[in-house]
Amino acid sequence: MGERIEIGDISISVTRKDVKNVHLSVHPPDGRVTLVAPASTRIDVARAYAITRIGWIRQQQKQLLSQAREAPREFVGRETHYFWGRRRLLRVTEQNTKPEVRLDHRTIHLQVRPGTSRDGRAKIMHAWQLKLLHGAVPCYIQKWESRIGVEVRRYFLQRMTTKWGSCNSKAGTIRLNTELVKKPRDLLEYVIVHEMIHILEPNHSPRFFALLSEHYPSWPEARQDLNELPVPQLAGS
Ligand SMILES: [Zn+2]
Repeated sequence: MGERIEIGDISISVTRKDVKNVHLSVHPPDGRVTLVAPASTRIDVARAYAITRIGWIRQQQKQLLSQAREAPREFVGRETHYFWGRRRLLRVTEQNTKPEVRLDHRTIHLQVRPGTSRDGRAKIMHAWQLKLLHGAVPCYIQKWESRIGVEVRRYFLQRMTTKWGSCNSKAGTIRLNTELVKKPRDLLEYVIVHEMIHILEPNHSPRFFALLSEHYPSWPEARQDLNELPVPQLAGS
């Protein structure tokens, strides 16, 4: 891999070209950041420049992210919803029995009591998403505990608006965004591995990326996929 500048959670790939000045760009759709620098510019000088532009980078990324957001869902029939990376059509039926959600290969069947509000339907779907995640996450954690040689004391599922996961390295716990249920399973696995490595190395340091590359060499693609897939509109859903 080429040169990189890491500033907090922002990772900038550096290209050398026959140019006069350092040039920073933030690219759609995921807000990837690149820096073009003259061959003679020292990396610490390029880094110092990037630091002065961090506010601008974040602003550009935020703008791109809000453009990529999906429309909020109403949980009505014929709406499309994503599960494990696949687009499914929602079918809503009303029945005076315990609500339930069933999935077949193309359709999500949401069965609710007559007159259930939009928020009520959203809650039923969310509870079902949690169940799916709790069915998948422990297997991945177990698989990677022995491979990485780290113990996860506990994991939490939480709806988050700005990140896919987080880690409390002191407590040995990881937190996963419930929106991951909409992504392909291998991306859920990537986020789990990423956060588990943070138990060993809290920062995005060279050591962190060395460990990540050792255990999950395809992480750059996974990270890109995560950022390219539609970011759901989380507020109020
Ligand atoms: Zn991280």
